[in-house]
Amino acid sequence: MSKTTNSEYKIAIFGAAVSIIFTAIYDWIKAKPILYTLKSILGWIWNNIFKFELPVWQIIILLMVVLILNKILKKSPKENIEENFNDWLNYTEDSFDGLKWKWIWQKVFGKWNIENLSPICPECGTTMEQYNMMRSATCPRCDHRIYDFKSSSKIEAIIIDNVKRDLYKPL
Ligand SMILES: [Zn+2]
Repeated sequence: MSKTTNSEYKIAIFGAAVSIIFTAIYDWIKAKPILYTLKSILGWIWNNIFKFELPVWQIIILLMVVLILNKILKKSPKENIEENFNDWLNYTEDSFDGLKWKWIWQKVFGKWNIENLSPICPECGTTMEQYNMMRSATCPRCDHRIYDFKSSSKIEAIIIDNVKRDLYKPL
């Protein structure tokens, strides 16, 4: 409900801004011949704005509307990024092909990387040791062994794709 009201509010402000701009442009065009020299434009600005022949309140309202609009439009996407930012940093485990994986996010030179990516033992929940050469992993606690699971580079690519496409579910 509040979202609808908010967007209606934005549309109303935008409509007001557009009508003020169009009125101003229309008055300006109507009052002047089609071709201007720079001198006449400067003269017009001097005569109409600095001598306050153009309603000053219209300029002030227009400036206020532009400032408010700018603030509103800038605020929403920034908030969304902040929200997503926190959201995907909490995405540190997921199941792929029935096998649970865990990882951490680490910032290296301003870029977030996936670190400590490991499968989790389906028997006891301990982080498993991977043997990439043999494409297997062993649980250090219960010695449970798994084979033929997706490589960690593929898992990493899926995790990044999930974040980019918003496919991950917050756990
Ligand atoms: Zn285990």
